[in-house]
Amino acid sequence: AQKIPSVFFRFSQEFGDAGFQAVLVGGAIRDIVLGDEPGDFDFATDAEPEQVMQLFPSVIPTGIQHGTVTVRFHKHSIEVTTYRVDGEYSDRRRPDSVSFTRSLADDLQRRDFTINALAIALPDCQVIDETGGLQDLDSRTIRAIGTPQQRFREDALRIWRALRFSARLGFNIEPATAAAMQEEAAGVRAIAAERIRDEWIKLLSGSYAGEAVLYAAQIRILDTVVPDILTDTDVLRPVCQGFETAPNPAAENPGALWEWRFATLLAIAVQKDQKRVNELHRFLNERRYSRRDVSVLLHTLRAILADVPETADIVPARRYLHCLQKADYLLVQHYRRLLGLPTASRKMCELLHTESDRGIAYSPADLAVNGTELARILDRPPGPWVGRCLSSLLQRIVDCPEDNTPGTLLAYAREWAGSF
Ligand code: ATP
Ligand code: MG
Repeated sequence: AQKIPSVFFRFSQEFGDAGFQAVLVGGAIRDIVLGDEPGDFDFATDAEPEQVMQLFPSVIPTGIQHGTVTVRFHKHSIEVTTYRVDGEYSDRRRPDSVSFTRSLADDLQRRDFTINALAIALPDCQVIDETGGLQDLDSRTIRAIGTPQQRFREDALRIWRALRFSARLGFNIEPATAAAMQEEAAGVRAIAAERIRDEWIKLLSGSYAGEAVLYAAQIRILDTVVPDILTDTDVLRPVCQGFETAPNPAAENPGALWEWRFATLLAIAVQKDQKRVNELHRFLNERRYSRRDVSVLLHTLRAILADVPETADIVPARRYLHCLQKADYLLVQHYRRLLGLPTASRKMCELLHTESDRGIAYSPADLAVNGTELARILDRPPGPWVGRCLSSLLQRIVDCPEDNTPGTLLAYAREWAGSF
């Protein structure tokens, strides 16, 4: 009970006072029972959306076609979904219709897995378990509710969801559920790209992601998230097994854990032919990744694939750091090792360590002069030459950071302009 903020008690009381029932459902209950910090708290209710709208002054119909509204209540945004049963799934993606029901038990039956079908009634905090979810949480099992094959046929996204929960929780998939996932695997090809993307990102963020990725390869759905990934698990296996031992990316660096893992899988797909890095752009756009995600993923991929200099000297070390563009060189080495690519020697790592501490110029913005100053001091009208001159200065400063002072840079710039 102490995990449930008091505002939710008051919220459910409002329903009770009006003669309705509102219970907490879904992932938060699973997390509470597991002793984890719950994510979002969602409510389910026997009140219909119209009735919820009459109960509270500020209600946004966020998913009204599925019976979901968002209520603003004491500065919280609370999602409330009317108890429902889903109609036929003729396209295997979305129910053709949903109908509301007064029965919580029916609502729980339409959910995907037993561990996701627990509810908590307030104020007594009694757990409602219609499907054996508590026992499955206890034995760490992911089990489809009802007939597994039918449930995956209704909505094949549930196949990715099962893998996502196993990646997060490290649970086993119950044998009949696993067999049905394999049989219905082709169904994921009909699923909307953004739905798969969201599950895939969550899967890759899980502590047990490696296992889940191998599983996805085994049931032949990995190519819906990574282009042309080898069914040859000999390459995939060491990569996936090394996911867990990788250090966590620091918050200030570009690239979250899922992005490093994803970039490494993408590296397998393009390793044979580096020209394919350009095709990836299209692939990721089609899979509905945001512009920011595409840019971080490709940046991380390029960093992983960048050749490590063979000689452990200071200038190659600086050039390499510049080439990595702030991607963490230690993480790069970890993932290169998993891919079977050559990694930096110990001496090189020492150099990378001291040089990255000292600071590297990554872009013209890091130079001690800017384009306007260049144009003024060289007494030339601004033009495309400014960008070229700055890149040339940047190259020199990467090699020789001590020269990053206005005086030295302007002397270089005069030399550059003279030879032009
Ligand atoms: P998370 O903590 O990652 O948000 P969650 O269990 O809350 O996990 P959601 O995707 O937010 O997962 O879904 C909320 C609940 O809705 C689930 O717990 C499940 O009961 C139900 N649900 C979601 N998607 C489906 C689906 N495709 N089929 C059946 N039930 C689903
Ligand atoms: Mg949720």
